[in-house]
Amino acid sequence: MTCRLVVLFVVVLLPSLAAAQQGQKPPVRSITQVTGDLYRVQNNQHYTVFLVTSEGIILADPISADLSTWLKAQLAEKFPNRPVRYVMYSHHHQDHASGAAVWNDTAEVIGHDNFAAAVKAAAPQDTRYAAVMLPESTYRDRRTITLGGRRADLIHPGRMGHAPDFTVLHFPAERAVFVVDYVAVRTVPGSNTLQNGASIAEYVNAIEAVEALDFDIAVPGHGPIGKKSDVADHRQYFERLAERVAAAIKAGRTLEQIQAAQIMAEYKDWIEYDEDNDINIANAYKNLSAQRR
Ligand SMILES: [Zn+2]
Ligand SMILES: [Zn+2]
Repeated sequence: MTCRLVVLFVVVLLPSLAAAQQGQKPPVRSITQVTGDLYRVQNNQHYTVFLVTSEGIILADPISADLSTWLKAQLAEKFPNRPVRYVMYSHHHQDHASGAAVWNDTAEVIGHDNFAAAVKAAAPQDTRYAAVMLPESTYRDRRTITLGGRRADLIHPGRMGHAPDFTVLHFPAERAVFVVDYVAVRTVPGSNTLQNGASIAEYVNAIEAVEALDFDIAVPGHGPIGKKSDVADHRQYFERLAERVAAAIKAGRTLEQIQAAQIMAEYKDWIEYDEDNDINIANAYKNLSAQRR
């Protein structure tokens, strides 16, 4: 009896060990030039940016301790004697904001005023927030950092469902913005975007805050790089979603009828359309129906 149990245990254990070993394949990482001295760093599905100046480097999100440790060695080799002087958080979510402690020997860590409260609210349920260092200095609406004659502007685009503490990073000379999670290029907004009654109008306002900046290149935290018009397209997705779902509710349609009617079909070539579009319609339906009561 005991022997048979042991055999069974070994048989079950072996495939899971093999799976664990497969899971240890190295992450996809790269450093690519965006323009001039502005570079984009990939860590699997996550991206950050950094600007090289004569007096050091301005880094956006640290992403993770692993990525930061790898990147620190890469920067020391490629840009010797240019320590990272600033780490600038896009928002508090642990999958973008972990690992800043790796840079803290030379860098000041900056985030929005709402960052610490947002971490405090998220941390009790999620132990991964132990890796998120709170900002050493914060700002409310807008802040400019200069280093080695180069400039980065931090702009808070307002609260929205995804997070209350976003920072859009604008590099005026490079004519580029770094914006994470709530703007993506030719990508349908993620299924969590409109959950819990999140306001579409807040997303539209927050995207308009990006569009108000003077830039040509949009560098997102996920997915492909785009142009300013891609940011406007992303805003328009939200506007059309709200408009069409509201009209369908007014016409007495059910959620199933609205989804079957494929009211957002012109976005079917966008990334994540199949995964997220119907969920966005469902969330918009729920949120806009609630507003009518
Ligand atoms: Zn996020
Ligand atoms: Zn993200």
